[in-house]
Amino acid sequence: MRKVTVEDIDVKDRRVLMRVDFNVPLEHGEIANDARIRRALPTINHVLGRGGKLILMSHLGRPNGKVVPDLRMDPVAARLGELLGREVRKLNDCIGPEVESVVSGMKAGDVVVLENLRFNPGEKAGDADFVDALSRLGDVYVNDAFGTAHRPDASVAGVPKKLPGAAGLLLEAEIEHLGKVLLDPERPFIVVLGGAKVSDKIGTVENLLRLANRVLIGGAMAYTFLSAEGVEVGDSKLEEDKKDVALGVLAAARDAGVEVMLPTDHVTARAFSADAETKVQEGSIEPGWMGLDIGPATTAAFCKALEGAGTIVWNGTMGVCEMEPFSNGSRELAAKMAASPAATIVGGGDTLAAVEMLGLQDKFDHVSTGGGAFLEFMEGRELPGVACLPDKSS
Ligand code: AMP
Repeated sequence: MRKVTVEDIDVKDRRVLMRVDFNVPLEHGEIANDARIRRALPTINHVLGRGGKLILMSHLGRPNGKVVPDLRMDPVAARLGELLGREVRKLNDCIGPEVESVVSGMKAGDVVVLENLRFNPGEKAGDADFVDALSRLGDVYVNDAFGTAHRPDASVAGVPKKLPGAAGLLLEAEIEHLGKVLLDPERPFIVVLGGAKVSDKIGTVENLLRLANRVLIGGAMAYTFLSAEGVEVGDSKLEEDKKDVALGVLAAARDAGVEVMLPTDHVTARAFSADAETKVQEGSIEPGWMGLDIGPATTAAFCKALEGAGTIVWNGTMGVCEMEPFSNGSRELAAKMAASPAATIVGGGDTLAAVEMLGLQDKFDHVSTGGGAFLEFMEGRELPGVACLPDKSS
């Protein structure tokens, strides 16, 4: 079902209370990467271009309901001001009489950034009074924060129950691209999964297995599958208690006629370190060694398996990408996807970081801003922040 979007509502001279994902990485108080701010710009410019008064709200980091001076929104507001080329006023709270007074004096085209929502314990608790206090700041509500759409937080799932709501352009694009993958993917539909743990992604794996034509599994996750099948994996990271689940997944895939490919060789190391001694091992892994990347034969086989795809969805790195000696599998797969004529969709924080490190983010058809939200959407779950926005037909 399509959602009402910011393009469907009248924002002129109205106070537009907009949830954004300005949870940017900070290093020594400076913004290390402003991609999240930039990705909200189309919706921000849309509202300002149509004469709205814009009140932006976001969380930043994990202050756990307390004021943490290093997590104030000031650097974010300053960067937004630079990007917009206009004044952006940052407030020192997110609710209360002073905030209400500033907001009531806003003119069309004014931009205000509220203080970090998570300084207030009401945000994570979805507290009704906090929802009311936020709702008093807007005439309409827009959600452009896909990254938090899976959270039942006050600003995500509470405020849209009080104010007329709409999806921002970024949220709409996410729902559109990811929704198509679940409902009507171009086939063959190939899923590439990796990363640290099976347990983080089991629901997603199960759902995508139902929909995909082929699934490639790498990363540490692969060792749980291989070990469950009786392959020796040495000291590789694995989840003993998820082996049954892994076997269940493989059996379900076989029954459904879905091809699952697991690594057949591995870049292994003596220790979890970029300077450790390494060697490629085929088949099983010797004791005292751990698999930290898919091996060259697996990389070649996985790349070949992507040929002819209609849709490729990728979540989870093929190895410990942040260490150069174990980044080759992810690198080669990313390059192959980037060059593929298939609809390519990538999601998940670490996977995104890998794609950005390779400078390939513009070569994918859709780069999801969601980590947990991406996985839950792919699991087929309705996200609270999306569910409470009105459907287009109503
Ligand atoms: P995820 O957030 O689940 O996508 O996991 C990404 C993380 O998985 C990255 O930080 C990788 O370092 C880690 N990872 C991938 N492959 C392996 C592996 N073979 N052994 C240990 N960690 C891995």
